[in-house]
Amino acid sequence: MQAAMPKPDEKYLRLLRDNRFKATEPRIKILKVLDLSPRPLTATEIHRKLQRSGIDLATVYRSVNKLAEAGLLVRVGLGDEFTRFELRREGHRHHIVCSTCGTVGNIERCNLHELLESITKSTGYHNIEHEVLFRGECNACYLNRAAIVVSE
Ligand SMILES: [Zn+2]
Ligand SMILES: [Zn+2]
Repeated sequence: MQAAMPKPDEKYLRLLRDNRFKATEPRIKILKVLDLSPRPLTATEIHRKLQRSGIDLATVYRSVNKLAEAGLLVRVGLGDEFTRFELRREGHRHHIVCSTCGTVGNIERCNLHELLESITKSTGYHNIEHEVLFRGECNACYLNRAAIVVSE
């Protein structure tokens, strides 16, 4: 590791302070777990990942909701009864869920702008927000199914 690198948790500390949050240990740990996770997580999943640090589930719930209200986290709906959270990043992303195994993929680029413009034109609505969830068959499930078909 390079000597000039900031301490790994400093980024979260700064993020909290920049948003007028007290940089408590649970908050820092929650931000880190979400930052390192390849997919959005529920409060329960975050809690499970933090088990060793002795942070209780109620604290996780309270923290993620506060952080989401402040805009540091984004609430993600994946079409089931759970609310998941992810770190807010530059721009916004969408998700795609495998209908077979539930694996979640990230769609980093949103190019729905043209559609939104045409909606403004046809409806007269401005500042349109959108929530879109894509579903499909992940590559593993696709290949798996293809293999079964071949062997039949
Ligand atoms: Zn799948
Ligand atoms: Zn979008």
